[in-house]
Amino acid sequence: MEGKVYQAGEDYEKEFSPRDYLDTFYNFDSGPVAEREIIKFSLQNLHQTFSVGGIRGDVLIDIGTGPTIYQLLSACEVFQEIIVADYTPQNLQELQKWLKKEPGAYDWSSMVKHVCELEGDRSRWQEKEAKLRRTVTHVLKCDVTKTPPLGSAQVPLADCVLTFLAMECACLDVETYRAALRRLADLLKPGGHLVTMVTLCFQHYMVGPKKFSGVYLEKETVEKALQDAGCQVLKCNCVPLKYSQAFCEGLCFIIARKGPSA
Ligand code: SAH
Repeated sequence: MEGKVYQAGEDYEKEFSPRDYLDTFYNFDSGPVAEREIIKFSLQNLHQTFSVGGIRGDVLIDIGTGPTIYQLLSACEVFQEIIVADYTPQNLQELQKWLKKEPGAYDWSSMVKHVCELEGDRSRWQEKEAKLRRTVTHVLKCDVTKTPPLGSAQVPLADCVLTFLAMECACLDVETYRAALRRLADLLKPGGHLVTMVTLCFQHYMVGPKKFSGVYLEKETVEKALQDAGCQVLKCNCVPLKYSQAFCEGLCFIIARKGPSA
């Protein structure tokens, strides 16, 4: 409907189109320059973190995965197992399509090639796709506004929790956001890492013709929420990049580590 703004919760189930989301934000070859620069920023930071930076381990849990896999392309080389989780059933279906190589699955190959190039060998992109498909062991339903966020699923404590561009969509206000981050920290082993990309001063984004709102977060609010969830911020890389199809003031890539007694 014209002018309507959708928000966290049931609207995602009813109104969020994974295909529209992918076409809007992840058209790496011929989409808007702004969106492409943001993907490159994400992939570069993830490469730096997992391929160069030495964050590795047994289990990585990605929360609010959506219909996307780009955020896992570096990590799949250094974790034994990746668990992905999202609130929206149609996003989980879209993910499964890619994981199972079903007809009509989204084509991530140009982003996979880009990451392989960062790693030094663009030609091994198919090997990387196969590696990621093997490494994702569970595709789960989650709701970060509930305790526990993964419901009754039995999951091991993670060495790394990843959440990209999701908490600001899942939460309607700062209190809900802070509680969600505490739930994410609960999924981590002591000393484990929380790696997140956040849109700063976020207001809304377009999923095809539909507008979705979220919570307005400043860098300091995010850092404080992480600290209060028992995590020490190790890296905070903020840039003034802006989407053409979302209203925000910039992006921040953050690495935090859960303390021993959190
Ligand atoms: N991580 C992806 C998708 C981000 S879009 C990317 O980097 O592009 C925002 C995602 O948040 C959507 O997939 C949506 O389904 C998810 N989401 C919305 N509410 C949620 C909730 N309560 N718990 C977990 N995820 C939620």
